[in-house]
Amino acid sequence: MMNSETERPGSMLPAIAPDQIADFFRSPELEALKREICDIGRRLWGRAYVDGNGGNISVRVASNLVLCTPTLVSKGFMQPEDLASELLMHLAIFAAQPKAKACVHAHPPTATGYAVCGIQPPSCMIPEMEIFIGQVAVAPYMTPGSHAMGEAIGQLAVQHNTILMANHGVVAWGFGIEDAYFKMEILEAYCKTMLVTAQLSQLGSAPNTIPQPQMQELLAIKKTLGIPDPRTV
Ligand SMILES: [Zn+2]
Repeated sequence: MMNSETERPGSMLPAIAPDQIADFFRSPELEALKREICDIGRRLWGRAYVDGNGGNISVRVASNLVLCTPTLVSKGFMQPEDLASELLMHLAIFAAQPKAKACVHAHPPTATGYAVCGIQPPSCMIPEMEIFIGQVAVAPYMTPGSHAMGEAIGQLAVQHNTILMANHGVVAWGFGIEDAYFKMEILEAYCKTMLVTAQLSQLGSAPNTIPQPQMQELLAIKKTLGIPDPRTV
């Protein structure tokens, strides 16, 4: 799977005047985004990436406006009218990373296991992971919803589109809602594969890695897609 959405930097979006927000919120464009958020919420819930009312989704709809899931609603059962609140961590990502159009936060079990153990998944193993995510950042544990957490995640979001949050879960940003969701799928699948790789390597065969010349080719492809990577100069 090598599909990537066109880069749509959030800084290109116009601001919406306060007296226009109510009308804008009910516009066809916003209604479509609300439906997309509900659809992605169902996909997160269907894959068991969210539990109880955990996880949240947000999308930048103007340079000064973000549409976000409410916190106390199961993501499998959202209705378009439920979408009205804002979340600090998502705002910190949007403020720090102009390329971020949408954010998805969830607790996929395998990736979250890596986050609990403080293990950064190994890199140079699978091309799709290298191109669409790269080396996952691991943020230290901080109280969910705190300003300190927002600040730390925002800083990491400049160079990483997917962040493991210690003892918590994963947050990813993308060029659209589905693009951010794909990061969650790619990371969770990758962490499962790395778990199997670790088990099989117990049989005596060390895992092979992608050779450096081919890694440079992958990073060159990544650069053309506008996806940041600290290994790209
Ligand atoms: Zn969470």
